[in-house]
Amino acid sequence: MAPVPEPVPEPVPVWESGAYQPYLAGLRLAGRRVLVAGGGSVAQRRLPGLLAAGADVLLVSPEVTPTVEGLVGSSGLRWEQRGYAASDLDGAWYALALTDDSEVNAQLVRDAEAARVFCVRADAGAQGSAVTPATGQQGPVAVAVLGGGDPQRAAAVRNGIVEALREGRLDTLGRRRPPGAGLPGVAVVGGGPGDPDLISVRGRRLLAHADVVVADRLAPQSLLAELGPGVEIVDAAKLPRGRAMAQQAINDVLVERALQGRFVVRLKGGDPFVFGRGSEEVAACVAAGVPVTVVPGITSAIAVPGLAGIPLTHRGVAHEAVIVSGHLAPGHPDSLVDWPSLAGLRGTLVLLMAVERLGAIAAVLIEHGRPGGTPVAVIENGSLATERVTTSTLAGAAAAAAAAGVRPPAIVVVGDVVGQRSSAAPTLQP
Ligand code: SAH
Repeated sequence: MAPVPEPVPEPVPVWESGAYQPYLAGLRLAGRRVLVAGGGSVAQRRLPGLLAAGADVLLVSPEVTPTVEGLVGSSGLRWEQRGYAASDLDGAWYALALTDDSEVNAQLVRDAEAARVFCVRADAGAQGSAVTPATGQQGPVAVAVLGGGDPQRAAAVRNGIVEALREGRLDTLGRRRPPGAGLPGVAVVGGGPGDPDLISVRGRRLLAHADVVVADRLAPQSLLAELGPGVEIVDAAKLPRGRAMAQQAINDVLVERALQGRFVVRLKGGDPFVFGRGSEEVAACVAAGVPVTVVPGITSAIAVPGLAGIPLTHRGVAHEAVIVSGHLAPGHPDSLVDWPSLAGLRGTLVLLMAVERLGAIAAVLIEHGRPGGTPVAVIENGSLATERVTTSTLAGAAAAAAAAGVRPPAIVVVGDVVGQRSSAAPTLQP
């Protein structure tokens, strides 16, 4: 009897042995077939990147998440609602085994190996012939990080590099550069309603580069405390010349400083283009040939009621919200506000700069048909530690505000949404 041969163990593919580092490359996938098996949460994270690269994606999966389903139909993504079949690899350049069935993933990896198609495997990364790095983009620079099998480490390193690029701590040649150098012109930045956390990431980043900051009284003051000692701070409220000339003086400062080659941040409260005269400052820069950029901010008109728990719209209560300046009294010859028409609305009125004229505004609204019993909230110093909310009715608002000693800055909300006020999440902070 011939001896039974010893079973020979299947050789472990050399790339699975862990002896070698993956070779990093950027795949140009535009117009090329990529097979994605599985439509769950991993696919949800991978598909946008594949589509952004222009890949011709075939997705096979009996089920997909609602988000993935939403992507279907976007150009480059075709979904076949079924399980994986070996023929799906026909014509593919790259494959991703992302199903929740490890047998299917293993089969796809084997088939891809035979077809010489690189394949990542979500459930057992070391067994795929390709691995997905943590990626990020900052301008033209793409960052990809592999964490030696630890995706969380890869993501953390990626975050650090992208953040450093964003903040200008690394330039695109990898050299360090001093803050501010190289940034020309003026950035008109909305600082949000007052809490320093409510400025945008871009706004904060530009502020960190500023050589000069021209700040409004309503801009978040605590952000100014973070500025380096070499940064010139111009208090826009204290610029000389009369009130009418103040805007011209601000425009002049922006243009002068920028023409000296310094990077100027014009830091404003809320959003620069909501009763902020930001567009006049932009126009002044453009006229002087100074490069200028706008960074939107969270406007107090929406954020201050929200932080106080008052939604501006609410299903079944208000289907419109109008933001109105109360700067000029009703009937003032320069006023552009059609108070009688506003009185006819059922929705929400958000009044800015209205504390001094609250009585006259309430009177004209009631006179033209808004019920005197309409709920009103007056929110002072929204988002700040000194925030205070005074509620009343339209007929009683002026008296209530006077009794409470309400002072600007304050937002006045008129409408039934005031009755929806909740004291939930806004106060909860990590
Ligand atoms: N561009 C700003 C508004 C400037 S007009 C923005 O988008 O928010 C100034 C008015 O804004 C003030 O009179 C007041 O009505 C409102 N305001 C700004 N900050 C506020 C705050 N923190 N709390 C309450 N009202 C505020």
